[in-house]
Amino acid sequence: TMKKETKVFQAETKELLNLMVHSIYTHKEIFLRELISNASDATDKLKFKALTDTHILDSSEELCITITPNEELRTLTITDHGIGMTFEEVVENIGTIAKSGSKAFLSSLEEAKKNNDLNIIGQFGVGFYSAFMVADKIILETKSPYSDKGVKWTSTGEGSYEIEEIDKTERGTSITLYLKDNDEDKEFLNEYKIKGLIKKYSDYVKYPIMLKDERINSTKPIWKTPKDELKDEDYNEFYKSTYHDWQDPLLHFNFNVQGNLEYNAILFIPQVPPYDLYTREYKRGLQLYTKNVFIMDKCEELIPQYFNFIKGLVDTDDLSLNISREILQKTQQLKAISKNLEKKIISEFEKLMTNDRDKYIKFWEVFGRHIKFGVHENFGLNKDKLENLLLFKSSKNLDYTSLKEYVDRMKNDQKEIYYAVGENLDILQKMPKVLNVINKGFEVLYLTEGADEFALKTMNTFKEKTFKSVTEVTFETEEEKEEIKKLSEINKSLLDKIKETLKEKVVEIKLNPELGDSSVSLSSKGEVSLEMEKLLSQIPG
Ligand code: ADP
Ligand code: MG
Repeated sequence: TMKKETKVFQAETKELLNLMVHSIYTHKEIFLRELISNASDATDKLKFKALTDTHILDSSEELCITITPNEELRTLTITDHGIGMTFEEVVENIGTIAKSGSKAFLSSLEEAKKNNDLNIIGQFGVGFYSAFMVADKIILETKSPYSDKGVKWTSTGEGSYEIEEIDKTERGTSITLYLKDNDEDKEFLNEYKIKGLIKKYSDYVKYPIMLKDERINSTKPIWKTPKDELKDEDYNEFYKSTYHDWQDPLLHFNFNVQGNLEYNAILFIPQVPPYDLYTREYKRGLQLYTKNVFIMDKCEELIPQYFNFIKGLVDTDDLSLNISREILQKTQQLKAISKNLEKKIISEFEKLMTNDRDKYIKFWEVFGRHIKFGVHENFGLNKDKLENLLLFKSSKNLDYTSLKEYVDRMKNDQKEIYYAVGENLDILQKMPKVLNVINKGFEVLYLTEGADEFALKTMNTFKEKTFKSVTEVTFETEEEKEEIKKLSEINKSLLDKIKETLKEKVVEIKLNPELGDSSVSLSSKGEVSLEMEKLLSQIPG
């Protein structure tokens, strides 16, 4: 017997669909990119499975993606021969939005609606639903190699969908869009228009995209295309269609490495963190190809933890094709590439810092803490280089400065690099201890993030200059010290009284001649600043 059911979409999906169905988004055309990228992902998944499950794929089979417009029926069909889906998988993947339960998603959705800003949608991986911007009905037919039946899913995007088992022999998925009856959406049947969209958005999809027996997309993978033939748009479109982002990347790097180690790499820095970057579910890694053949997604051995926000791919001829994941992880080749890549990325950031400071600051404000953790994580080879990437706000114009720039400005009589830790610049600027140092003509670095101080503590010195917290700095002369000693004795009963009142809340009460206009200042005794103590006390265990 064949299962057949009508199911309602979950609440979040309904909201999203509603957004799509009534969308006035001006870039409706991206639905094609989304469907093609799903088809390409599904084909990748099949290939990856086939590495260990060889019977699911005949090595001679050509895995293309086909686009079929039908003027009479007003339908557009996208077909792939990828991994397909079982009944349960369709319910799971198409009926619900992954991670939709998360508050983050809902609040972002609220924001998005308010601003009529659909950018957010791309970040949540709801690409499939974008088809409802142009279609008033969608039929999806699919077959997984792990099920003997096919599945048909039908929906008009309004509240519910039908799902039933069907006879289907061919593995893969075909998605038929019944285009809305208006001139704008009917345009998507036009071959010329479709070709243009494929060229624009999906040119570097690695499987052939066929329209009426003609391959439309480029036959050369993007990393084998000479750099001078590639425009920014090529990188941007490749990035968006491959790495599930709606926005252009902030930066891209294209490395062609020759010599002992040979590989090509194309890397991207997103403008904003991937929505799940700071969750446990996030998996870092680059796509790995060998001899232009896809091996795996998210190969984490290729990129260190602190660069986990970087997207991209590596292609190398030096690996064997029939290699299992377990063996891959141990391959020296990957380690060597990873080390080399890390160096190259660092040096690109260094160049950017000098050549395009504004862009570097953009990067820094989004991903700077990763570099700080990198310094902390990386006692080894690249620590010296990573140090050069650090930026801090400083008392000089409240601008960003690198450590090198700070040191270059140091006065002859200055031995140490001064820093102050506090919640924000406002507070820091008013700290008596900070003013004390500034008034002597020295510059102070303003540390406002927990990771800032961690990084400095790890480094201890920069170019042989020690980091010194302003709370530990005193410019008192011997006579002044004597004077304070006397005053402390005279006022002993007052100081004792204060200590008695505050009890274990403080360790010591001292007279301080360097408070400027303030009457009291709190500081910590010993290695760690008050702010770092606060931070440390929040770490469980
Ligand atoms: P994303 O691609 O970011 O995961 P989509 O909304 O585009 O989000 O797709 C949702 C899910 O539906 C995919 O993760 C995949 O599991 C499934 N899916 C979509 N299209 C296909 C397809 N052509 N073949 C197999 N699975 C698909
Ligand atoms: Mg998708």
